Amino acid sequence: MNRRNFLHLIGCSCLSVSIHSCTTAPITERKQLRLIPEAKLNAQAAQIYEKIKKKEKLIDDKNLTDIKTIGKKMQDSISEYFYQSNLPDPTANFDWEYILIENKKVKNAWCMPGGKIAVYTGILEITKNKNGLASVMGHEIAHAVAKHSVERASRNIMLKASTQIIDILSGGKLSQVNRATGMNTVGLLSQIGILNPFNRKQETEADYLGLIFSSLSGYDIRETVKIWERMKEANKGKEPPEFMSTHPSSSNRIKQINEWMTEIIIKYPPIKIT
Ligand SMILES: [Zn+2]
Repeated sequence: MNRRNFLHLIGCSCLSVSIHSCTTAPITERKQLRLIPEAKLNAQAAQIYEKIKKKEKLIDDKNLTDIKTIGKKMQDSISEYFYQSNLPDPTANFDWEYILIENKKVKNAWCMPGGKIAVYTGILEITKNKNGLASVMGHEIAHAVAKHSVERASRNIMLKASTQIIDILSGGKLSQVNRATGMNTVGLLSQIGILNPFNRKQETEADYLGLIFSSLSGYDIRETVKIWERMKEANKGKEPPEFMSTHPSSSNRIKQINEWMTEIIIKYPPIKIT
């Protein structure tokens, strides 16, 4: 394959594969490659989520109540937004669920394909308040709503050879994560790619959509910038595995979020559920 054809495939121009394997991300309308059915990935994620629930120490306290309240507001607001916009609801096949995992060392949260969410107690020191928690959850939920895992898995099929190399590398990194945090579900999470970084375009998209979803749900998205600053502070001189290892922060990221802020507050005010 020459370089031009290769770029053509990666660029997801639809012509190279077939018209059905291309879709667009919600709201941003970025073109995406989709070779794997969403249902397949959701089912796989749900199975792994069940195993994680058995292996990790789950807590049911006021923080979990907050997580569930924020999550419910967000899932309703997202569905309502797409309904009012006369667009297909990307969360139509989601089976939302929320857990809080006791592990202070893990400053992270994730949302699996299909809406299976976990928050680690370590990140609560960073989020500090409901607006902060909403901004982290909004970002993670945005990865799932925009089907970033489906996109990544599809790309992996296209790039099989290089994927094997990446797998070997990330295998080493994952066992390092395991040792540093005592997370005994690192292997499980890697099966669904949850601890692997998304690419930069996907991260930017999750930042943007996350702000929109938080704003639609009635949270103060100005807290988002403060979160990134607290995250930077908490990670100073430390090794991964923090939220930052999969979410490289930079002054550019904060600058970008600041640039979107006013427009999003005006364009996506808290939505009334009809
Ligand atoms: Zn992210």
